Amino acid sequence: MIEKIDHIGIAVRSIEKTSELLSNILGLKVAGEEIVEEQKVKVAFLPLGDSELELLESTSPEGPIARFIEKKGEGIQHIAFRVDNIEKVLEKLKKEGVRLIDEKPRYGAGGAKIAFLHPKGTNGLLIELCERNE
Ligand code: ZN
Repeated sequence: MIEKIDHIGIAVRSIEKTSELLSNILGLKVAGEEIVEEQKVKVAFLPLGDSELELLESTSPEGPIARFIEKKGEGIQHIAFRVDNIEKVLEKLKKEGVRLIDEKPRYGAGGAKIAFLHPKGTNGLLIELCERNE
């Protein structure tokens, strides 16, 4: 059902500052950036092996990332698992009574299909499912 960790989402106040820091101390480089209007977020991708880090900077004080940072500070916000058929996985989880934020996949950065599980059903961990056409 799950293929691998696709990416780790990290909430930051400044993509520029954080990416510069990660470049200086770990040699990681930004491979692309995108604004996802629907989520009020700017996203930067830092590929590493078979996965990547996803830096998330809010474009609005009301966005989910701004609210996350206000509550918990900067840091890991979600873990995304790669799946090959997101509709099928959502169907299965729904049948099992797992609480979902998204019952249907929505648009994610990079053209992925994504859906979030509700952290109240996963012991506080925000899990994203992610299907990509590669
Ligand atoms: Zn993500």
